[in-house]
Amino acid sequence: MSELLVHNPYDGTLVARLAADDAASVAARAAAARAAQPAWAARPMAERLAAIGRFRAAVVAQLEALAATLTSEVGKPIAQSRNELNGLLPRLDFFLEQGEGAVRAERVFDDGAMREEIGHVPLGVVANISAWNYPWFVGCNVLVPALLTGNAVLYKPSEHAALTGQAITRLLHEAGVPAEVLHCLVGAGAVGQALLAQPIDGLFFTGSHATGQRIAQALAGRFVKLQLELGGKDPTYVRADADPAAAAESLADGAMYNTGQSCCSVERIYVHEAVHDVFVDRFLATVAGFRAGPPTDEGTYIGAITRAPQLDVLEAQVADAVAKGATLHCGGRRGPGPGNHFPPTVLTGVDHSMELMREESFGPVIGIQKVSGDEEAVALMNDTRYGLTAGVYTRDEAAARALLARVNAGTVYWNCCDRVSPRLPWSGVGDSGVGLTLSVEGIRTFTRPKAWHLRSPR
Ligand code: NDP
Repeated sequence: MSELLVHNPYDGTLVARLAADDAASVAARAAAARAAQPAWAARPMAERLAAIGRFRAAVVAQLEALAATLTSEVGKPIAQSRNELNGLLPRLDFFLEQGEGAVRAERVFDDGAMREEIGHVPLGVVANISAWNYPWFVGCNVLVPALLTGNAVLYKPSEHAALTGQAITRLLHEAGVPAEVLHCLVGAGAVGQALLAQPIDGLFFTGSHATGQRIAQALAGRFVKLQLELGGKDPTYVRADADPAAAAESLADGAMYNTGQSCCSVERIYVHEAVHDVFVDRFLATVAGFRAGPPTDEGTYIGAITRAPQLDVLEAQVADAVAKGATLHCGGRRGPGPGNHFPPTVLTGVDHSMELMREESFGPVIGIQKVSGDEEAVALMNDTRYGLTAGVYTRDEAAARALLARVNAGTVYWNCCDRVSPRLPWSGVGDSGVGLTLSVEGIRTFTRPKAWHLRSPR
């Protein structure tokens, strides 16, 4: 059996050796899930809700150890690992509160003789291939509602978050989800490919646009429900009437939190010329206060770049921008190894001829562009193939609403950024993906509607 080696991205040390799946074990797991799913779906919803409730309690009880595991394999600062786990709890509460109602059968017609009802039945066996950057969030956004609604799940966490993927699976098993109903597949992209060859009823993917495209191509011609939650190039516009200092502090955090490795990290900033210089000064001062260091240290804010190849992407974006006339204020080059390090990097004088303003950076790198007003800002915000989130900072709510209504994005923010709510749908426009998670719709998405026509006997 092959092995998956887990390395600490901060210092390069070996964290764990895991027995990896192969094509044969993936096929065996898929068959076991298929056989087990009907009995799981037939259990009362209350039993499945109780299992998720026990899972929640276990996360709370083991939070410190789970945070340490996450930090060791992803390089996320320990305080931010705790934040992710604590942030998971309201999501679980939402699923626990809404799970039953979301899939309750609805009677939509009744004239005494004829009744019409809509039922919501599980898809069957679904696959979840997910990213490493927030493995608890992106894993549970799929696993929990999929299981609650009666599906079996083949879960392939990222190779860079395999220990966390195993921990999530173990806690769900201990909470009462049968081992045959939920499988954790260990391995890299090849295991994901083997999974795609199985007879699955739904594929729920979180990751990069390039991999999402490969997955869509691998499933072409098969009628498998496909959801893709992909990357973005999320813009924010700071209007002339905004408080530039408050906006700068908020956006510096939005750009650099999780070492810039969030799908909804702020990736482009447009600032009105009237407040540009004050904004940039405060932004640079805020970033200068972000402490880089060992992710295990309590005070660390900038941790490791999880995937080494991303260092090349970041350096290339900075070099391209500088060659085309941008001003580099700080950072710009990888730090010394072992491990993957990149300091907070801020560029001004940028424009859309630069890769930095077009393609996802996925690191602590940000470009700030001066604009003359609302029309230019909206045009630039929409000049992208992505559409995950977008924001506006202004004192004027009506202006913010009018601007954000014109921006092509699944999520829009007024005076905030880098925020996800379990009550709201999480979805992308264009190359940021198809489908959604979270909200009541993000529970129903693991079911298909079944139409019932019921005529009473005469
Ligand atoms: P990747 O696309 O590299 O990987 C995602 C998953 O796909 C991993 O589990 C990976 O396995 C697997 N995979 C890789 N190749 C294949 C293949 N050929 N067939 C099947 N599976 C495969 O993304 P990252 O994990 O690096 O995540 C970062 C990206 O995710 C960013 O673009 C980010 O914006 C996006 N993202 C989007 C979110 C959203 O909600 N829209 C949320 C979080 C992240 P392995 O890692 O083992 O190779």
